[in-house]
Amino acid sequence: MNAWRCPDWCASDHQCTARTGSPAGVHASDPMRWNTAYGSLVAVRYQNLNGRNWIELRATASLNQTGANTQEQASQLAIHVDLAIRRIALPPLKRPAPAVTKGPH
Ligand SMILES: [Zn+2]
Repeated sequence: MNAWRCPDWCASDHQCTARTGSPAGVHASDPMRWNTAYGSLVAVRYQNLNGRNWIELRATASLNQTGANTQEQASQLAIHVDLAIRRIALPPLKRPAPAVTKGPH
């Protein structure tokens, strides 16, 4: 396999730094965007020249505009996103519960 040759999913443009031949190069997909009922989700897939794959996700979600539980809603959202990622990305024995930390409020 030629690591500098872009895989089918790679954008094969300025987003891909693997094409330069640099050992630090990374293949990158075009951003995948979804408008959702809660806001939006953007995902970009990457692969370095050692074959490691990963994804970056950016979610925008509306929170309650009023009420005292907005911070709790934000915390619950982050916890459940973390749990979903753990369930899919980690093997069963490496799924510890997320550490909950309090925000600035
Ligand atoms: Zn590429």
